[in-house]
Amino acid sequence: MKGGVITELDSEYCTIRTRIPAGVVSCDQLKGIATVAGRYGAESVHLTTRQTIEIPHMNHTDLDAIARDLALNNTPVGSERDEVVNVIACPGNERCIFANIDSISLARSIDARLFGREMPVKIRISISACPNACTSPLLNEIGIVGQNRPIRVPGMCTGCGTCVEYCKEEAITIKRGISVLDPSRCVECGTCVRSCPYDLLKSSGEHYLITVGGRRGRHPRIGRELIAVKSPESVLLVVEKVVAWVYRRAWSGRLLSDQMDELQFETFRDEIRALVPENDRAEEPLGDFSGGSGI
Ligand code: SF4
Ligand code: SF4
Ligand code: SF4
Repeated sequence: MKGGVITELDSEYCTIRTRIPAGVVSCDQLKGIATVAGRYGAESVHLTTRQTIEIPHMNHTDLDAIARDLALNNTPVGSERDEVVNVIACPGNERCIFANIDSISLARSIDARLFGREMPVKIRISISACPNACTSPLLNEIGIVGQNRPIRVPGMCTGCGTCVEYCKEEAITIKRGISVLDPSRCVECGTCVRSCPYDLLKSSGEHYLITVGGRRGRHPRIGRELIAVKSPESVLLVVEKVVAWVYRRAWSGRLLSDQMDELQFETFRDEIRALVPENDRAEEPLGDFSGGSGI
């Protein structure tokens, strides 16, 4: 439980961070955490940016009992050092109308395989089910974004302009009475797919963009695009490979974002692409709705 125990300013006390993948906690678990906070701590909790609950002002002498009680509550002591820390996710397609993927289930699967693994650098993983990126995935060591590419039914469009109104990126225009997509502006959010009143915009399939090497903090960095894949199984495969690559090659004492060039990220990207089956890569370039995907 080393990583989830944080010594406080007054070193007599520590804060205990819990493991709560995707930040989803049941009412019974909430009551259990409240009981632990009342029994051992300062009768309050703190909600963290990594979607966990931490319990402040715990006495070091109570650690074994606290760890036991939290484990029985299915909210065990978490992780915060150079490890794979709490995996965060937006509500995804359980609740959000913009979602393209099931971000919560994916977070739980990643947590089950990788949580707490000791690493040379801290690995934060964040999942957003659409490019709105509510959980800032591109500012994490590993980011996952649910995307959705639009394809218009060939030869079919009334030119009504509804999709133009819905696209916040101004990626669709009406030309000669039909919709035309500018692929350079499209962020693959999928909103237009759901907007066409005649159901003429189809999805080419939801997929997952995976980025590596982002960070928040003093000098924020945007993660680099690694690969886009079509299935959660491939996401798990790729994320495990990223973690293994970082474990083998990264140096401790510096954030992953500072080491990306030395770690030869471009070479690693080629290795990953070779590893994921071709039919599970989401790499087809977007069309402009003309030619093969439109009039
Ligand atoms: S990232 Fe997208 S799907 Fe997730 S909560 Fe935000 S808007 Fe909804
Ligand atoms: S998928 Fe592309 S074209 Fe469609 S609404 Fe989103 S940004 Fe616009
Ligand atoms: S694709 Fe659908 S919503 Fe867009 S202009 Fe054509 S008919 Fe209208």
